Order: sequence, then structure tokens, then C-alpha cells
Amino acid sequence: MTTGTVRATASGAAPDVVDLVVVGAGPAGLAAAAVAVLGGLSVALVDAGQELGGQFWRHPPHGSAVGDGKDLHHDLRSYRQLTATVRDAARSGRCRSLLGHHVWTAVHPAPGQHVLHLVDRSAGPGRESAVRLEARHVVLATGAYDRPLPFPGWDLPGVYTAGGLQALLKGAGVRAGSRVVVGGTGPFLLPVAAGLAARGASVVVCEANDPRRWAGGAGAALGLPGKLVEGAGYAATLARHRVPVQLRQAVTAAHGTDRVEAVTISRLDRSGAVVAGSGRRLEADAVGTGWGFVPQLDLAVTLGADLVPSWGGDQVVGVDRWQRTSVPGLSAAGEVCGVGGARLALREGQLAAEGVLRDLGRPGVTGDRGVVAVRREVARHRRFAAAMAHAHPVPAGWTGWLEDSTTVCRCEEVCAGQVRRAVADGAVGVRQVKQLTRAGMGWCQGRMCAPAVAALAGPGGPGTEVPERLVATPVPLGVLARGTGRDPIP
Ligand SMILES: Cc1cc2nc3c(=O)[nH]c(=O)nc-3n(C[C@H](O)[C@H](O)[C@H](O)COP(=O)(O)OP(=O)(O)OC[C@H]3O[C@@H](n4cnc5c(N)ncnc54)[C@H](O)[C@@H]3O)c2cc1C
Repeated sequence: MTTGTVRATASGAAPDVVDLVVVGAGPAGLAAAAVAVLGGLSVALVDAGQELGGQFWRHPPHGSAVGDGKDLHHDLRSYRQLTATVRDAARSGRCRSLLGHHVWTAVHPAPGQHVLHLVDRSAGPGRESAVRLEARHVVLATGAYDRPLPFPGWDLPGVYTAGGLQALLKGAGVRAGSRVVVGGTGPFLLPVAAGLAARGASVVVCEANDPRRWAGGAGAALGLPGKLVEGAGYAATLARHRVPVQLRQAVTAAHGTDRVEAVTISRLDRSGAVVAGSGRRLEADAVGTGWGFVPQLDLAVTLGADLVPSWGGDQVVGVDRWQRTSVPGLSAAGEVCGVGGARLALREGQLAAEGVLRDLGRPGVTGDRGVVAVRREVARHRRFAAAMAHAHPVPAGWTGWLEDSTTVCRCEEVCAGQVRRAVADGAVGVRQVKQLTRAGMGWCQGRMCAPAVAALAGPGGPGTEVPERLVATPVPLGVLARGTGRDPIP
């Protein structure tokens, strides 16, 4: 679907050139697009999803009968302001909002020139088409995805990621089960559990880490009273619905024949290993596990942006104080620069667009004092994000929960025993394990299994760096043939 009146150029035709393409319409991308159009730039805002809002403000498709789930959202005021700005600009032809469009690759043939190749999926399966966009600047705001960890039975129907449970609830109004176990680590488990409980599910939460790990980060939390209020709101909802929160416990197995029927919940020791004999079985018809988020780096890597380690240990896009990457004309904002929540993403998006305006010799829209205030807010959120990452690591001992028969790579059906055998046979690092077992070579290109394979493969060796995926989403051959035209594809 394209909102507004102008469509991007179908591939093959002469490309339309815009000042700025923003990839991703979550909090970061929306903020960047809104500031850029207010600053007078011509903008194309692209998102693979069917609605504006990204993960945080995920809404059901326009016109669907599903309620808007207001209680599942926060800061809807910002969402309404930003979407109104973008839609107004779309109506007046200053912003193209290309929803249902996935950027599958991008090239940077010359300074001040970026070419993006999109697959337009808005007409539905089998009716995809190719779209080409050209821009002077690009802001990547592609967000992050759930970090799943395998465990025995994780491939049964009814086992989701925590983000998957949330996306079903927010995007489709679907409560995945009536007896739901939400496990893993991090504050994100709380809104997921609260949303399900408020819709009548009986919910149990398992947090793998000890809350005392927050001790050193108390200052960072106190600097953001809004976070404390939000957390208190979830705690009140969970208390009202009598949702137990089990600390230092994890879902270590799921059981069932055709779908999940029960889980094993185990206590964890300090290293994250299961305390012997602590496992207990609990009936459940849905399970969601979440171990934080992994930044979505495909396009950043393809375009050659330098990566740096973030506060959470993951590689993220390195940016300067205006969110510029190491590639001229390429900026990045939001969780692609480090996982820190929607407010941080919003503010980074704003800074990115302010930087583009300045680079194009235009006055900013936030004002110098406003920019200083935004930077202070960004710094507070980054401190909080670092404290959160410290308090909620993936427990080191989790690989001990895996049986040799546990599937690790679902696409290529590679189990933990095969990976362990490859390592015992001398494979070093992810790449050699991949060569020997095919783990990570399937449809998802390692998005699901890479963290698990890396942990089983052990440190070091070639291929432990962020993989280069030149095609960011599977593309039909017809689109591929029509889509590239004369552009050199990386
Ligand atoms: C499944 C999931 C659910 C979440 N739910 C919540 C929640 O309920 N509450 C909460 O506090 N936090 C939630 N989070 C965390 C949340 O993502 C962030 O705090 C916030 O949304 C980050 O904003 P962002 O703009 O950086 O990225 P996002 O909001 O993730 O937006 C990124 C957007 O980029 C688009 N995109 C990515 N790659 C491409 C491409 N190649 N082409 C076109 N479009 C692309 C995606 O479709 C997405 O809409 C969730 C995260 C995930 C992964």
C-alpha cells in the first residue's frame, strides 16, 4: 500500500530522486521522516510492514475489525503527531510512504547517490513487483529482531518468541493461548505478560536473571522516571491478575505431540546451568521466550557501514553525534545502533534528520537548544540501556539445556549433537561449523540460529563476525531480474 498520491518508480523506468530515503517506519524512522519533511526535504519512507509504527507502535492493518489495543501502547501522542506529519506530507506530495515494501539491497555508486532496490509486496503473494529508489541521503532505521535460543521442544507449534506473542496481540488482536508461559530475560517480558493477562490468559513469567544485578544501574533507572512509571504499571497489572514472576528460572523444555502441551521450568544457578532436580512440569498451550534483541544490520553491512560493539555486546552501526555512519550520506538511528527502547530510537531518529538537514545546508527544525536537550536525553537512555544489558545477559550456561537431539538450525534441521560433533572434529568458529553441518545456510540465513551456533561453536575462528547478507529478504526471481536494471549489485 502507498499512502499519499505518489508511487515510487517501477524498476526499469527512470528513477525518481528524493533527498532522503528512510528505511523503517518504527519510532526512529518516523521521527527522522517527520523532521526531514518539516525541514523541507523530499522524503520516501519505506517499511516492510503494512502500517506505520514499527514494532513498538504495531497496529492492526488499516480497516481491520481488530480493536486498536490502546492499553498495549505507550506514548501514543508521539505516534499520532508523527504519523499525522508524515501523512500530511504524503498528501501534499512531499513524502512517499511505501508500506509493504522491503528493501532487499542497496548500492552506493557515488558520493551523494544511493540506490535502493525494493520488492513491493503490498499486492499480496505471487504479485510482487520491483521498485527502485534513488536518494542523496539514507537513514537506516531497521530496528532489531528477537534473539531466540533453542531448547528441547522449541520447534513445537505453540512455541513463539516473546516478540512474536506481542506482535500477534498488537497486530492481530490474537491471544496465542489461554495458559501461557513467558520466559527469558529483560523488562520486555513484562508488557508481553501484562497484555496477555489483561486479555484473560493465565500467565507465568520466568526471568532467568537475578534482579540484584540492577544494583549498579539504579542511578541510570532513577534518571528516567518514565521508565519507572511504566514498569510500575506492568507490575500493577501482573499483581492484579495474580501473575507469578519466577526469578532465576527458565523454560528449559517444551513437551507435546502435535503442539505444546506443557513445559519444564528449571531453577538456574549463577552460571545459568540448571540446578539438578529443580525441573517441574507446568501445563501450557503457548510459550514465548525472549533473550533480548539482535540489531537488524543487513543493509548497513551491505552498504559498508562500520560496526562497533554496543553496550549489550552485539555489533551495531557506529554513528557520530548526528547519527552519521562511516559511509557518506548514510545515517542510522534506533535499535540498529544499539537496543535501548522506543524513546531512544525516537530521539536518535530526530538527530539523524537534523544532521541530514545540516549536511544539505538547510536550517534544522529542532533549534540548537532543542538539539542539546535531545542529546542529553539520548545520553540518559544509553546509560539506562547499558544498565539493562548488564542486568539481563543471556546466562552463560544455557547451552547445557540442549540435548544432542535438540534442533538448533530449523531451516536445515541441524541438531545440537551435529554441531558438537563438528566442534569435537576440530571445527573452529561459526563458519567452519556451518561448512560442516549447514547450520545457518537455510531460508533465514542464520537469523534464528546464529546466536546458538556461535555459543556452541565457542569463541574465535573465522565467521564469528556479523554475516554479510547481500539479499536482505528472499526475492522472487522475476523481481530480481527486473529489479536491478543497470545498477551494479554488490
Ligand atoms: C517483535 C518485536 C516486538 C516488540 N514489541 C515491543 C513492545 O511491545 N514494547 C516495547 O517497549 N518494545 C518492543 N519491542 C522493542 C522495540 O523494537 C523498540 O523499542 C522500538 O520499536 C525500536 O524502534 P526502531 O524504530 O529502532 O525499530 P522498529 O520499531 O523495530 O522499526 C523498524 C522497522 O524497520 C522495518 N524494516 C526492517 N528492515 C527493513 C527492510 N530491509 N526494508 C523495509 N523495512 C524494513 C521493519 O518492518 C520495522 O517496522 C519489540 C521488538 C520486537 C523485535
